Amino acid sequence: MYLTQSLHRALQQEPDRIATIFGDRVRTVAESVDRIARLGGALRSLGVQAGDRVAFLGLNSDRYHEYLFAVPWIGGVVNPVNIRWSPAEIAYSLTDSGTRVLLVDEAFAKIVPALRDQVEHLQIAIFAGEGEVPDTAFGYEDLIAGSEAVEDTRTGGDALLGLFYTGGTTGHPKGVMVSHDNLVTSGLGSLATGQVVTHGGRILHAAPMFHMADIAMWTIGNLAGSTHVIIPTFTSAATLNAISEHHITDALLVPTMIQMLVDDPSGADIDLTSVEHFVYGASPISEALLDGARALFPTARFTQAYGMTELSPITTLLAPSDHDDPALTRATGRAVAHAEVRIVDPEGNEVPRGTIGEVVARGDHVMRGYWNKPEATADAVRDGWMHTGDGGYMDDRGYVFVVDRLKDMIITGGENVYSVEVENALAEHPAVAGCAVIGVPDTRWGERVHAVVVVHPGEKASPDGLREHCRERIASYKVPRSIEFVDALPMSGAGKILKRELRTPHWENTRVPG
Ligand code: ATP
Ligand code: MG
Repeated sequence: MYLTQSLHRALQQEPDRIATIFGDRVRTVAESVDRIARLGGALRSLGVQAGDRVAFLGLNSDRYHEYLFAVPWIGGVVNPVNIRWSPAEIAYSLTDSGTRVLLVDEAFAKIVPALRDQVEHLQIAIFAGEGEVPDTAFGYEDLIAGSEAVEDTRTGGDALLGLFYTGGTTGHPKGVMVSHDNLVTSGLGSLATGQVVTHGGRILHAAPMFHMADIAMWTIGNLAGSTHVIIPTFTSAATLNAISEHHITDALLVPTMIQMLVDDPSGADIDLTSVEHFVYGASPISEALLDGARALFPTARFTQAYGMTELSPITTLLAPSDHDDPALTRATGRAVAHAEVRIVDPEGNEVPRGTIGEVVARGDHVMRGYWNKPEATADAVRDGWMHTGDGGYMDDRGYVFVVDRLKDMIITGGENVYSVEVENALAEHPAVAGCAVIGVPDTRWGERVHAVVVVHPGEKASPDGLREHCRERIASYKVPRSIEFVDALPMSGAGKILKRELRTPHWENTRVPG
C-alpha cells in the first residue's frame, strides 16, 4: 500500500470534485494532484532523494496537505514539526531527524536563520506562507510554477513515510518511524470499523496538522472522497464559523478544543446542524464535557478514538451507538479492524477481563520503531506487541477502558488512584474550568493525591468545598488531600496537560518522578 494511491483514484473518478478549501483558495482534485506532482518535481530538483526527510513548520493550510503528499510522491519522508515547541526543541527534532529541507510559513520564517546555525544538515528553506519571500528561502509558489510535474514513485509498503515526534507529554519527544503500510492500514481499518467520516463529506481540519491524529484524517478523508476544509489554527470562533459557512460534516477534535467550543456563547446563534460525525480522542474526556458537546451539536454522532503516534494512531473506536450504553460511559472503544488489543501484566501475560493492566496492541499499524533509539524500540515493541504505557482493563465484550497513563497513576497508602477518575469528579463542579491530579511525596502515605485547579473567571471554589464535592462521587482515599489554584495549566502542543511539569517542583528534593 502507498499513501498517494487514493489521489490517483480520485483523479480518475472525480477530477472536478473540490479537494481543499483554505480561505478563498479552492482547489479541485485535478489541481491539487497537479500541484503535488510539481512540488514533488521541485523538491527533487532541490536534491531530495528517496528516504530524505523533509520538514514542515507552519500553521495548517492547503500547502501543508500538498507537502504531506508530495514528499512521499517522490519517495521522501515527511517530518511535520510541532509548532508549539521552542526554537531549541525545533532545532533538536530537525537535527535528530537529519532534515535537509524545511518548508516554513510566515509565522515561523523569522527563526530560520537561527535554525540554519544550529542544525548542521539544514540547507534549504522553502517559504510556504503568504507575502514577500524572506531572503533565506525559496518561494513555494515560484517553485511550483517553475517545476514540471513528476511521476509518482509509488513508494510504499514497508518504506518509511514519516517521522512523527510524540506529544512529549511524558518526557522527551521520540521520533516515531511510520511506514506507508502503517498509516494506510490504520486509515482503511478505521473506515472498515465504521462511523469515522461521511463518505464524500466535508472534513474540517482545525486540529494541528503536524499531529498524527489529523494526518490520519487526511488519509481517511482521501480514501473516503472527502473535501477538506482547513483553518490555520484552532480558535472557537474560526471553528464554529467554518462549520456553518462550509457545511462541515466531519471533524476530529481533542477535548480541550471541544471545551472551548462549548464555552463559546456564539455557538448558540450559529447553525451547526450540518455536522454528522465528530471523532474525539487523544486524551480522556469528562462526561460533563461530552454532554455539553452533544447539546451543542445535536445532529452529530460522536465516535471516540484511542491510540497513539506509535500506533499510526488509531487502535480502538467507540461507536456512536456505544455512547448510549451506560456501561460504556468510560470506555475508549473496541479494537479496530486492523488491530488486536490485550491487557497484560508486567510479565506480558494477559490478565483476566476486568483486571487493570497495561494496554498492548498488535497489527500492521504498529510503528517500525523509534528513530535512532533501538533500546527504546525494543522496550516498547515486544513480540510485535506495542506496549502503550496506558493502564486499562477490558470487559467481556472486548471494550477497552483506559484508566490512566501508568506514569500518572498515584499509589497512596498502598491504594492505586487513577488521576483521570479524580479529574472527572472535579470537572463536574460548576466552578472548575480545568484540573490535573498528580501524586506528590507524602511522608505518611508515600504519595498523596494533589489537585491543581483552574477556576472559571468570576466563579469561586474553596479546597474544602471541592473536597466535599469529590467525597460525594469517589472513595475517600481518592479525594485530593491538597488542592492548589492556578491561572492556567501547562499544555503540550497537542493540548494535553503536562503533568510532569506540575510534578517536578514537588519532587525536586526527593527523586525525579518517572
Ligand atoms: P509522549 O509519548 O511523548 O509522552 P503522548 O503519549 O501524549 O506523548 P501521543 O502519541 O500523541 O503522545 O498520545 C498518545 C496517548 O494519548 C496515549 O498513550 C494515551 O495516553 C492518550 N490517549 C489517546 N487517546 C485517548 C483516549 N481516547 N482516551 C484516553 N487517553 C487517550
Ligand atoms: Mg506516548
